[in-house]
Amino acid sequence: MPTNPALLFGEMAGKPPEEAKFFWSGGPVEVAERTWFASQLSGVTAFETDDGVVLVDAGAVMFAPMLAGSIREKTQAPIHTAIFTHGHVDHAYGLSEFLVEGQPTPVVIGHEAMPARFARYEATAAHNRAINARQFGGRTSADTGAEWVSPAIPPNQLYADELVIEVGGVTFELFHARGETDDHTWVYCPDRRVLCPGDLIIWGVPNAGNPQKVQRYPWDWADALRLMAAKEPASMAPGHGGPVVDDPELVHRILVDTADYLDAVVERTLAVLEDGSPPHVDVVHAVELPTPDQPWLQPVYDEGQFIVRNVIRHYGGWFSGRPSELKPAPRPVLAGAVAALAGGALELARVANQHAAAGDLAVACHLADFALEADPADETVQEIVAEIYDQRAEAETSLMAVNLMNSAAAHARAGEPYA
Ligand SMILES: [Zn+2]
Repeated sequence: MPTNPALLFGEMAGKPPEEAKFFWSGGPVEVAERTWFASQLSGVTAFETDDGVVLVDAGAVMFAPMLAGSIREKTQAPIHTAIFTHGHVDHAYGLSEFLVEGQPTPVVIGHEAMPARFARYEATAAHNRAINARQFGGRTSADTGAEWVSPAIPPNQLYADELVIEVGGVTFELFHARGETDDHTWVYCPDRRVLCPGDLIIWGVPNAGNPQKVQRYPWDWADALRLMAAKEPASMAPGHGGPVVDDPELVHRILVDTADYLDAVVERTLAVLEDGSPPHVDVVHAVELPTPDQPWLQPVYDEGQFIVRNVIRHYGGWFSGRPSELKPAPRPVLAGAVAALAGGALELARVANQHAAAGDLAVACHLADFALEADPADETVQEIVAEIYDQRAEAETSLMAVNLMNSAAAHARAGEPYA
């Protein structure tokens, strides 16, 4: 599978959601009367009413022209109201492209925690460029194209817990739920029985563990999914992946299965923490992860092991539980000591390679890190380490694991173990 997301989304265009999963792209799809969904990287939903369009999410700046073009094939009505399901760059940043010429700024609704998110982005713009290049580009030198600033048109109406609005005689119910983010909104249109869950549904293992990002809330997330199911939606237009059209049973299954999955990961993690609170890595290995068969619960973007980490983080501190890691030695010093045991960095890299050849890529990567850190300028070491990480990337399934492993390989080839 290509690791460049632009290639991947293109490759998945036109496939059914069950095959394309998180990577579905396409539209416009009519999900209900006068209601259309389109997705490029992330999804947008346009509800046409007699007073204009209610738009749920607005895509990323880079993909908004395609998304808006898709929606404008179906309706030329101005945007009356836009609702951002959360403040991520692929949902809240493309609104300008959807506006018709000369129309006033629409009502833009977001949860009250959203401005603090944008402030955080502005305070950590370079940090966000770096971690997102690793997550999406597979290397640190690539930029994802996103500017880590506030959106051009930020929300002008904030709400706290719930909000009901009526536009052109159509009712929209907005609910706040902490899940992927602390500023998440899910939207239900009872008149058309359409659910917009935002990123609480992405046709994959929920993004509740993302290794480089802030705290997520899988327990509240599961509760929200069950509330959505209780609404009995007929169609669902998710934050990522394809829509479900007029199939209430399938929508129900996806919502409840995903809630069950999250609850299971949380419960099993807490059970291990309650049993003596072992070091974090040992918790990860002690938790038996659910392995669902459903196409909407495959580890294509995030994965279960990372959700376990996120649960541990919420209930504990940063200390890993390994005594030596409370006040650790500088890594190059430690790496030098470990490499000396093997007879030098190159010897250590060769031992790492033997572990890789024997199929133990996890151990191989630990040793490879030490080898590269002990002698980052040795080109043979660089190449051995890079190839071990190439193999590791090949063996992973989630976009985040694949890209972070690819990033490690790129760093090794550049002789830059620490960036
Ligand atoms: Zn998203």
